[in-house]
Amino acid sequence: MIGYDVKKMIKENLASVRERIVRAAERAGRDPNAVKLIVVTKEADIEAVREAIAAGVTDIGENRVKEALLKRQALDLHLVNWHMIGHLQSKKVHDAVSLFSFIHSVDSLKLAYIITKEAEKQGKSQDILIEVNVSGEESKFGIKPEGLEKFLEEARSLKHFNILGLMTMAPFAQDPESARPCFKKLKELALRHSLKELSMGMTQDFEVAVEEGATMVRVGSAIFKK
Ligand SMILES: *Cc1c(COP(=O)(O)O)cnc(C)c1O
Repeated sequence: MIGYDVKKMIKENLASVRERIVRAAERAGRDPNAVKLIVVTKEADIEAVREAIAAGVTDIGENRVKEALLKRQALDLHLVNWHMIGHLQSKKVHDAVSLFSFIHSVDSLKLAYIITKEAEKQGKSQDILIEVNVSGEESKFGIKPEGLEKFLEEARSLKHFNILGLMTMAPFAQDPESARPCFKKLKELALRHSLKELSMGMTQDFEVAVEEGATMVRVGSAIFKK
């Protein structure tokens, strides 16, 4: 069991992150309600996730399918939208399609075809975002920006595969400003291809992401770490 102080911390952290999102949106002249907070629970235990949900969280992000399955079983909550934000292996697609409302990490045509097939089997239209490796770091997954057009040409014809937008991760850095060019670039790509959703911004840089047009931010440690 987690103690009273931990519960209080989670509530306060959530309130603070929400407030910071509102302020960042207002700075950019955007509607704060157009930014969805996805609470990333990969480093949080079940009790902590339960607490976050009790505090009104409706969207949970996990980067591993197995962990998400365990948590969902333990929580038995169907009011929550689950978001897959980590690299997805082919062999996990079956579980991923049955569990996640959104898959943010589609990073190859091969994976797109496997998702389509599985979604058809399950009678579901899978909402997805395409992960773009804007920063060009070798360590990151994602389609290269220059490969996006070709990817979309093919992926847009897939059935049961509902492309909502783009996702990216900025390089790790102390200074949130260093992420700005990366977010600007993702926004440009989304505009060029008429895609609406922009999943960008984490603890280190979510305010900059909101200023640059994020419609979904994925925040973990700012909520669960002391
Ligand atoms: C862990 C993770 C996050 C959240 O990171 P924090 O720094 O804890 O906010 C966001 N996006 C992805 C893809 C992640 O793996």
